[in-house]
Amino acid sequence: MADKKIKSYVDDRKSAWETMTDAETKKVLDFGAGYIDFLNTALTERLAADIIIAEAKKAGYKDFASVINGKTKFKAGDKYFYNIHEKSVILANTGSEDPSTGLNIVGSHIDAPRLDFKPNPIVEDGGFAYAKTHYYGGIKKYQWTTIPLRLEGVVFTKTGKKVTLSIGGKPEDPKFVITDLLPHLAQEQVTKPASEVVPGEKLNILLGSRPLKDEERNPIKTLVLDYLNKNYGIDEVDFNRAEIEAVPAFNACDIGLDRSMTGGYAQDDRVCAYASLKAMLEIKKKLTKTAICYFSDKEEIGSMGNTGARSAAFRTFVAELCFAYSNKNTDIRTGRALANSCMLSADVTAGFDPLYGDAYDNTNCSFCGRGIALEKYTGARGKSGASDANPEFISKVTGLFDKEKVHWQMNEMGRIDLGGGGTIAQYMADLGINVIDCGVPVLSMHAPFEVTSKADLYWTYRAYGVFLTKMSF
Ligand code: MN
Ligand code: MN
Repeated sequence: MADKKIKSYVDDRKSAWETMTDAETKKVLDFGAGYIDFLNTALTERLAADIIIAEAKKAGYKDFASVINGKTKFKAGDKYFYNIHEKSVILANTGSEDPSTGLNIVGSHIDAPRLDFKPNPIVEDGGFAYAKTHYYGGIKKYQWTTIPLRLEGVVFTKTGKKVTLSIGGKPEDPKFVITDLLPHLAQEQVTKPASEVVPGEKLNILLGSRPLKDEERNPIKTLVLDYLNKNYGIDEVDFNRAEIEAVPAFNACDIGLDRSMTGGYAQDDRVCAYASLKAMLEIKKKLTKTAICYFSDKEEIGSMGNTGARSAAFRTFVAELCFAYSNKNTDIRTGRALANSCMLSADVTAGFDPLYGDAYDNTNCSFCGRGIALEKYTGARGKSGASDANPEFISKVTGLFDKEKVHWQMNEMGRIDLGGGGTIAQYMADLGINVIDCGVPVLSMHAPFEVTSKADLYWTYRAYGVFLTKMSF
């Protein structure tokens, strides 16, 4: 008979806060401050890509375009950024080994749910000018009314000039809002299912209410158009060649008396993008395997488009990297590079929310404060659409995390058959890459204001750092 008390791994798990040293707790709380700055500036995929490239340049990264000429060969320790249409970025810190022996990759996404301007957005109705929007990603539409909004994006004029629009960010700027019906008159509205309470066609943003004097037709809309023309040099037709995104106009901030959490917009998935960017740019030592940070776009709508993870862009980059290393047999060597690569699909998961506890399986969900959450599979129903990570690979990843004393937890997102979701993992797995999802648990995911634990951000950053520099499989 064993006289040793058998411990339960699952039942005896503790919060990272309980087991961290004082020095670690200080690091965790300090790390959260830089993250808030990132959330307040990286408000769209374009702005995030700009910041990532600017930070990479400061850390000595050079444009990979200078390598794609068939002549340049890289040497170990060279650092590159690869700009994919201004909305997606790949960073590479090259190792001493041939890239066809495999890469260590951390891949996040920098797009987030929001409201996009329609191609012909500006209308006038009942004494107001509005911008009509089309929502992007999975949102609860009613959450986007009665909150301050700002506008961020680009417009191209008739002559092809790019105009950057950013209104609502500075303290002196006006902000924008979508109105909602007062409760006094909402007897019919409040009995509707939540999906119908605010229909998509009512997500119209207030732009103004002052008419242009002596203007017969649509005087309020005309004043708005006049303002845009005078201040930005854009005409109404230019919205046909624009990407304007309405995003929340409030700042990210600490949450809780203990300041243990961060609140802010688009933490899915800028929390993982920030963690991987910090981990990547801090690498000082010469690497054996090439480390890659991939910041993808369009994840929230299925990774489509030529800036999404389903496009050939990532594979093309790996092919160029292989070519720049040896100038031979690129296709077969690219295939080998991908098949030998290890990847963390750096995306958030749902943290357990006791207010909605029955949405989770509480022995298999992730808990805020227990560290980076790994997810063997995502998907819906019978794991449909899942990239089900191989235990051989999980064993190596968790072994590395244990060796490096990273706080981690294994999770499955919610109760069976309640819903589901996907990430870029499945599209990277299609390329032959060994991949598992892992990132920060989030509360109120896809809401205009999401919550994360600073402990989870820190351990996610540490996990990505050891993976980029030490993973081998
Ligand atoms: Mn995500
Ligand atoms: Mn998402």
